[in-house]
Amino acid sequence: MTGFSEKNGVLHADSLPLDDMAKTYGTPCYIYCASTIRDSVTRLRDALAGTLSKPPLITFATKANSNLAVLHLMSGMGLGADIVSGGEMQRALLAGMAPDKIVFSGVSKSKGEITSALKHKILQINVESRPELERIAAIAKEMDVIAPVSFRYNPDVDALTHAKITTGKNENKFGLSQNEAETLYRIAASHPNLRPRGFSVHIGSQLTDLTPYRQAYKKLADLASKMMDKGLPVESLDLGGGLGITYRNETPPDLDSYARIIKEIVEPLGTELVLEPGRYLTGEAGILLTEVSYIKESEGRKFLIIDAGMNDLLRPALYDAWHDIRPIDVREGRPTYHYDIVGPICETGDTFAFQREMPELKAGDLVAIMTAGAYGFVMASNYNTRPRPPEVLVEGTRHALIRQREGFDDMIKGELIPDWLDKSE
Ligand SMILES: *Cc1c(COP(=O)(O)O)cnc(C)c1O
Repeated sequence: MTGFSEKNGVLHADSLPLDDMAKTYGTPCYIYCASTIRDSVTRLRDALAGTLSKPPLITFATKANSNLAVLHLMSGMGLGADIVSGGEMQRALLAGMAPDKIVFSGVSKSKGEITSALKHKILQINVESRPELERIAAIAKEMDVIAPVSFRYNPDVDALTHAKITTGKNENKFGLSQNEAETLYRIAASHPNLRPRGFSVHIGSQLTDLTPYRQAYKKLADLASKMMDKGLPVESLDLGGGLGITYRNETPPDLDSYARIIKEIVEPLGTELVLEPGRYLTGEAGILLTEVSYIKESEGRKFLIIDAGMNDLLRPALYDAWHDIRPIDVREGRPTYHYDIVGPICETGDTFAFQREMPELKAGDLVAIMTAGAYGFVMASNYNTRPRPPEVLVEGTRHALIRQREGFDDMIKGELIPDWLDKSE
């Protein structure tokens, strides 16, 4: 039994009953199934291997779930990392990822981050603007190294996903226009401290339709072949991430069809290929396990107040995201009610679900917010001075704490009260 499923009237993570997990680790608590992560990696890899003549480098978009144990699992499976900060680079390296499998994305990299990326000799820095290229060139010159750069192209394609996770339209801050990408590529090709490796695209997240991929990859391939025709080498094309998953009733893109699009449009150019999936690899592998604190009834509405808040899982408040919410006790035969499922935070946005039909629940019962393995813990904060929850990894009958629950001392670490506050001038 792998993943989250029901057995003997109780929801399990692999072979472990979640009521036992709640006793061991307390609530709220993130739980990830290693087997589910491995299955996602294998599914994606098999689809690509079955279609393409050479397997692409899969770099896990670390920002989706950057726990060291999760990254270590990924590196053990041969994956690299797509990072968006110096901190994520340190995590990836610490977790055992090879520097030559690390790609540095993001719209603004600091001098320190660029220096550190060059020092560690990562595979490539994906450049998103002219001033950024100039900064990389200056640092590389000073360090007397050659910086491997790729150019993030904004193909002006609508990813047909939520506005806050759309990144490939002209009006988004990400990437370079075709003209600018071409110009910068030429500049890099003639600069002694820069080595242009190719281009990248990433048009958004939680894509369920393959059409935007087809459009973006076509434009990417056209851009690359134009450069090649001009005699400029293009070694590598980075196809981004964005593969969607099922939160409610979405149909994720068919991986074989996705691989066929790559084969048809991009593979003929003969470059190396890089992919940057995040959500697809860990989203369905994680839950946020929480306990019902109170049932509050008011004007005929039932509020299910749980012990997790928007500080623990931000997606519903930030993206209006829908998450399945399941009771851990799944025995049949109870009456059902419609609940508004809310957290303890002093914000109306701290609502996980409106009028959700659930079996009757009482204080002390456990519920799981499903599909919380990507963009879950990584977005957690201490808002309302609430400690961030622990993270637990399970596989089969084994389980381990992979991040401790924060305590009060962790939350005030680094805070200081200046002594002049109590003195008048
Ligand atoms: C966030 C991000 C990804 C991963 O997106 P998913 O939707 O999680 O697959 C990949 N590449 C870049 C540049 C990103 O910013």
